[in-house]
Amino acid sequence: MTHTLSAEKKKYYKEMLTTFPCAAFVSLDDRKAGSIVIVCANEQYYELTGIKTGSIEDGTHEILNLEDIATEDQMRVNREFGLAVENSSNVAMDASIRLKDNGYMRCRIHARPLELIGDAVAFVVTLHRYDDKHPEKIIQKHYVEHDSLTNIFNMKGFCQQTAEVLATYPERRFQIFVSDIDSFKTINNMFGEEVGDTILKKFASILKASFARLFKSNVPGSYGRIGSDRFAMCLPIGFVSPEKVVKLVDDMIMTMDLNYRVLVHYGICDIPNNNFNITDIIEQAYLACSTIKHNMIIRYAYYDHRLRKTLLEEQELVAQAEKALSMGEFVPYFQPVFMSDSKMLMSAEALVRWNHHEKGLLTPDRFVPVMERNGFISRLDKAMWEAVLSFLHERIKAGKKIVPISVNMSRQDIYNPRLTEELKELLEKYEVDPMYLHIEVTETAYIEEELQHQLAKTIHSLRQNGFVVLMDDFGSGYSSLNVLKDMPVDIMKIDRGLTVDIESSDRGKEMLSSIIRLANRLSIPTIAEGVENETQYGFLKDIGCDSIQGFYFSRPVPMDEFAKLLDDSEVSEYQKGESMPGQLAGKRAGKDSSGKKLVFIGDDHGEDIAADLFKSNYEIVHSPDPDKAVEDIKADGSVSYVLLTRDAFDRLVGEKA
Ligand code: C2E
Ligand code: MG
Ligand code: MG
Repeated sequence: MTHTLSAEKKKYYKEMLTTFPCAAFVSLDDRKAGSIVIVCANEQYYELTGIKTGSIEDGTHEILNLEDIATEDQMRVNREFGLAVENSSNVAMDASIRLKDNGYMRCRIHARPLELIGDAVAFVVTLHRYDDKHPEKIIQKHYVEHDSLTNIFNMKGFCQQTAEVLATYPERRFQIFVSDIDSFKTINNMFGEEVGDTILKKFASILKASFARLFKSNVPGSYGRIGSDRFAMCLPIGFVSPEKVVKLVDDMIMTMDLNYRVLVHYGICDIPNNNFNITDIIEQAYLACSTIKHNMIIRYAYYDHRLRKTLLEEQELVAQAEKALSMGEFVPYFQPVFMSDSKMLMSAEALVRWNHHEKGLLTPDRFVPVMERNGFISRLDKAMWEAVLSFLHERIKAGKKIVPISVNMSRQDIYNPRLTEELKELLEKYEVDPMYLHIEVTETAYIEEELQHQLAKTIHSLRQNGFVVLMDDFGSGYSSLNVLKDMPVDIMKIDRGLTVDIESSDRGKEMLSSIIRLANRLSIPTIAEGVENETQYGFLKDIGCDSIQGFYFSRPVPMDEFAKLLDDSEVSEYQKGESMPGQLAGKRAGKDSSGKKLVFIGDDHGEDIAADLFKSNYEIVHSPDPDKAVEDIKADGSVSYVLLTRDAFDRLVGEKA
């Protein structure tokens, strides 16, 4: 019944009817109540029937139970609609409709069910005078070209309309804007599809209102919803600034008060003078858009010659990747990580480089993103793991010093259900303990809802098998804090973007301090990335950041150079079963390393009892070998207490006494 319809719904129906090219109304067919009620109609309907405009909406024109249909047609119309309700199908039939002067007009009627409202089915019904030409075609065209959620053109409609605009104004140059909502699926999952739909409808309303203004001032153009969360518009070149579009849509989203940053990105492509296909232009605009995906600062990108060249070069590289892999052109470089207080070498990150036979040494930004898109990255990653493990294997065999090396995981790796097994097989092959292979998962991977579940599973399985998992690029995305509480990571790597802020803003410093405080409170050790100078290093050390990676200490270096560095450096000791040097391992176990340290010396399992008794007050370090323990305590300088077993005591003191 009409009174059960919300004002918003009525407004929505009314708006939808304005897009129809012929007389149309929305009816509610309630079979239980035995009634068909007309809810609203468009201008053309009022014109066709001569009924006073607005009289249906304001209830002054009562048309219940088919009374506006000629008696001889009523039964048939009723039956056809009944079948349509039952089967949720379309109806097409002829009937005579009553006019204002009580005369009748023969019409072709098309009805299409829209949705169920209580017991009633809402239909959109269109009418054509019998002398209209090809009514079926007209109405079919309408449905094929319009999007049912927003009532604006869909992809097909947009392309046709755009072609028409271009043909009408051959002397003008146009460009196409496309939009993409970041992680739209996540928005649907977080807030429900209704909120997702509302965003889309509001987006469409903005387009409708803005274009209505433009059309009034005789500016040609077109717009439409060309995909689930994608809109497009065609406008004369330079007519609207992208900043303005960004702001308009951002402001609309702000009014929704979602407590979540909905990011919309835009791609722009000029339409060339001749020889083009509109769908190609749309695709190129999306290519430009894809280069700024997840970027919180850059919100639009142009498809231009430079981008085209980059994309072509990318394609060329992709074509060469397979061969390059077999020729050993991909090599790991190693960037060491140092403890901030002792400046001791603690670990390193393996970073891929492409030693290209013609182009020289290429950094990952040139080829990793494109390989992530085409899937080749998993094979490349695997090659890197093998290279790292083989490096460790050789050094272990030669009795040389080693430190854990971290490798980067891409999304594809996370989705690989055999990831842990594959890594374990490699470790077995190269006889390396899992504590020496750290796994970096980038923070952006934590954002996407669909990935989160899989990621949690992967992290869990990796950690259960003795791997150490690092959250890479922490602070570069926007759900980091949320995710920290659910994702059990061992080490947090703070993004370079935050380190850069140390010198440029007080706010940046404050943010970094809060993150380190939070990590300390959660007992998660931290590594700061991208440390380039003394000021940054000093600040990070003072606020309690555990370790440092950056050009200030060392750039990523080739394998042989790193091997030499290892040979020449004093490296942090890792105890068996520890994934980090003693101080940080204690931290991960939930002990406050900034407090007092208690060393238990001896090997009669008393360390477990000591841990039970004192773990809430002290960081407990177990050192089975008394002589080595003494050396370590001397070097450490931060030990508060020592507990000795009788044997250890005898060995250290008794024998000397
Ligand atoms: P990432 O994992 O965050 O690696 C750190 C990046 O910061 C490296 O860039 C490193 O060279 C750079 N960096 C380190 N210290 C400094 C500094 O002080 N200043 C500046 N300006 N930069 C610094 P790189 O080697 O170009 O790697 C870029 C990204 O490519 C990596 O970011 C990682 O996400 C990805 N990547 C690298 N190797 C691999 C790999 O084997 N597999 C996968 N899937 N991704 C990789
Ligand atoms: Mg990394
Ligand atoms: Mg990083």
